[in-house]
Amino acid sequence: MIFLTAGHHRKDPGATYNGRKEAAETICLRNALTKLLTEKGVIVWNDADDWNLSRTIAEISKLSKPVDIITDLHFNAGAPSATGCEVFVADDADAHELVLAKSLASTIASVLLIRNRGVKKESNSQHKRLGIMRPIGRNVLIEVCFISNNYDMQQYDAFFGLLVEEMARVLMSKV
Ligand SMILES: [Zn+2]
Repeated sequence: MIFLTAGHHRKDPGATYNGRKEAAETICLRNALTKLLTEKGVIVWNDADDWNLSRTIAEISKLSKPVDIITDLHFNAGAPSATGCEVFVADDADAHELVLAKSLASTIASVLLIRNRGVKKESNSQHKRLGIMRPIGRNVLIEVCFISNNYDMQQYDAFFGLLVEEMARVLMSKV
């Protein structure tokens, strides 16, 4: 089973640049991935758009099992020149989580033709600790690309369909 959640929510839009809100982008990507994975027979669980992070974590924690994949979608933000994809894992990530994260980062970077910033531990994130890493399962937090970078978002828009197919392929290969 794949727990696929959209980072941020209705009351917390996340990063906002050039009129685009992170929370809207994560919902759009979550829904497209869920549709494709479901069509391929994978069981996917989504968060609700108005849940905050604590609610999402609480709901996942009621259901998730050690072999389930827990994927939270985000878009990065920074200086205009900051670019690329990165995937966070828990500080105590196991081999399954590291392989999944590495595969997602390299796949996204090569589909979008952006820098692969690689796999990072949660202690290297701006929050130091990521709540989405706590429910039982194989947890990854994807920063797809930089919403603050025009090139990243241009590539994201241009290759959205292929990105969804390739991300779904990676996720399916690990469940
Ligand atoms: Zn975010």
